[in-house]
Amino acid sequence: MPNARQTAIKTIATKEYDLNQIDFRTTSLKDLFGSCVFNEEVQKARLPKPVFKALQKTIKQGAQLTDSAVADAVASAMKDWALEHGATHFTHLFQPMTGLTAEKHDSFLSPTGTGVALAEFNGKELVKGEPDASSFPSGGIRATFEARGYTGWDPTSPAYIRENPNGATLVIPTVFVSWTGEALDKKTPLLRSMEALSHQALRILRLFGNTEAKKVFTTVGPEQEYFLIDKHFLYARPDLLNCGRTLFGTKPPKGQELEDQYFGTIPERVIACMADAEAEMFRLGIPVKTRHNEVAPSQYEIAPIFEDSNLATDHNQLMMDILRRTADKYGLACLLHEKPFAGINGSGKHNNWSMATDTGENLLNPGDNPHENAQFLVFCVAVIRAVAKYPELLRVSVASAGNDHRLGANEAPPAIISIFLGTQLQDVIDQLERSDLKSTKQGGFMEIGVSILPKLPRDAGDRNRTSPFAFTGNKFEFRAVGSFFSIGGPNVVLNTIVAESIDFIATSLEKATAGGKDLNKAIQDLLPGIVKESKKVIFNGDGYTEDWHKEAERRGLPNLKGSVDAFPILIRKDSIDLFGKYKVLSERELQSRYFIYCEKYVKEVTIEADMMVTIARTMILPAVLRYQAEVAAAVNSTKAAGVENNAQLEHLRELTSLLSKFQGATASLLEANHHHPDGDAYAHANYIRDTVVPQMAELRTYGDKLETIVADDLWPLPTYREMLFIK
Ligand code: ADP
Ligand code: MG
Repeated sequence: MPNARQTAIKTIATKEYDLNQIDFRTTSLKDLFGSCVFNEEVQKARLPKPVFKALQKTIKQGAQLTDSAVADAVASAMKDWALEHGATHFTHLFQPMTGLTAEKHDSFLSPTGTGVALAEFNGKELVKGEPDASSFPSGGIRATFEARGYTGWDPTSPAYIRENPNGATLVIPTVFVSWTGEALDKKTPLLRSMEALSHQALRILRLFGNTEAKKVFTTVGPEQEYFLIDKHFLYARPDLLNCGRTLFGTKPPKGQELEDQYFGTIPERVIACMADAEAEMFRLGIPVKTRHNEVAPSQYEIAPIFEDSNLATDHNQLMMDILRRTADKYGLACLLHEKPFAGINGSGKHNNWSMATDTGENLLNPGDNPHENAQFLVFCVAVIRAVAKYPELLRVSVASAGNDHRLGANEAPPAIISIFLGTQLQDVIDQLERSDLKSTKQGGFMEIGVSILPKLPRDAGDRNRTSPFAFTGNKFEFRAVGSFFSIGGPNVVLNTIVAESIDFIATSLEKATAGGKDLNKAIQDLLPGIVKESKKVIFNGDGYTEDWHKEAERRGLPNLKGSVDAFPILIRKDSIDLFGKYKVLSERELQSRYFIYCEKYVKEVTIEADMMVTIARTMILPAVLRYQAEVAAAVNSTKAAGVENNAQLEHLRELTSLLSKFQGATASLLEANHHHPDGDAYAHANYIRDTVVPQMAELRTYGDKLETIVADDLWPLPTYREMLFIK
């Protein structure tokens, strides 16, 4: 009888898929975009004028919606619009601390008591929900006696229609808070941090005489990496299915060495799936822009055009969900884990970040002559200062069991947080430090040596892929974020630490100018000192080298290698003071998050270890025992035939010795994993990292070695060479 692995391969080889489920030759992109979103255009067409104006003021300038009549009018228009789109239900969508989204659907129908049902939806239902939802992690904020959790409408992220195979649901983005108003989610602190930054940035703009801007948004464009493999492989790999990553698997003879995958042609089934997913994203107003093959085999990337951080975060969550669902329609599995396969690249999410006014000015755009652009220099130096002052907070914002497999390996930036500025900006910052701002290096044109080609302008700075935090022309790119993260967390940190720096600069400049000093003079007096203090975090070289690790240590930059090292940063005094000062997260909220992250780490690794033991005992061990019996039988029959059989005997010995190590490691892992050390979640996380993780690594070594010895027809698990290359 064929095993699950053989059945999977056979099925994949013969299965046909309908690759034409969406046809862009007959579907207009323009018609598709935003067609399922209760966006500005729909709002304008359907809302009474004063209601529309009030809502837009909230969305664009952050004015609070106080009039309940507005909510009622919006709810009523939303309901009519949703019913026309085939919606039967509505839901408040929120982002609990699982890092995923959560939803509970309510029907629009209300029976009237006279045997008739009416479709109803009012302002109250739009504004507040009580989903109960007491099973989400709260880190102690929701004791059972105050277990209420509320969802609250976020009018700045538009509602939309999510279509199911046989109907549709009106989805309303919301925050999720406890009865005491404390954040139980990823969105609440993000919104708070955006407000904090807006408030501080406006102070600087006012100093520069800008009276027009009413709000400053942080903008984010996340580049999402992911894997697509045939889903029959997923079904035959319990580790991938339940843990999101392979816990066993030998590196294939051919991996990514030939660099033949990066930017290569996209396989047919994959591009059909991508196009379908993009169609759904367009419908939901997600401005997806680029797609390409990534470095590892079967790895891809999708990136949207940037939006304000709140919307970008909501859209990234939706995007991950759409990728997974659409993959399924094409017989594919979308793997979003940071490290689904050992030995080849894992997946990250580059968080491109900037600040922009509601009037559309990008505050990190240097223009052609940054040395003359004092406002740009102020904002840019504020970011540099923030990263130099709070590198550990950035580090902890990307800490998770999954990301531990990437950060610090030579594929993702190291765990040391540093900034890359590039030649042009570095030169300007150097001049600034010397208080001698004179010029800006210009790019000019590239010499290609072929006269018929048009001249290509050269960028004034080169790029650097190894830096965790890089200036890329008119934005910073935070590259340490894991592929499966909600970008909410990292952006809460970025917004808050930059708000603090801007506050510091604004306070000093306001004081100086109030005392009669010229603004430019005040800036020239202030910035060089900040650059001097912060420049230790600037590094333009190769972040993957051993030299940099030594140099970073010499500079006194923190190197929090693993997640467990990073978690306690959340509850350190300076972090509590910072988040408290800008009202982004209270001490209790930080404590709860710290606890949740420690627990999540423990749970994730414990589940993986349990899964390893299960696979070892019920899949690998039986295969090895069968093979061992075969070899032993061959040894015996050869001997019976009177032939010398040293090599056979040696093979049996090697196999048996490896098997006994494998069994020994399985037993130790089982025992280690079932031991519960005394102490809190952090103590447990330390135990897991120091005891369970190394034992998992050891067991894997033996298992992977066995894969290279045992007869291929007996090996039960789809191998790397199959999962990554059979398309
Ligand atoms: P690159 O290829 O140099 O990384 P791209 O222009 O392709 O840059 O941008 C990568 C991502 O950065 C995209 O999602 C893009 O929308 C985003 N991005 C561009 N400008 C900004 C900005 N001002 N703020 C935030 N993200 C931005
Ligand atoms: Mg990029």
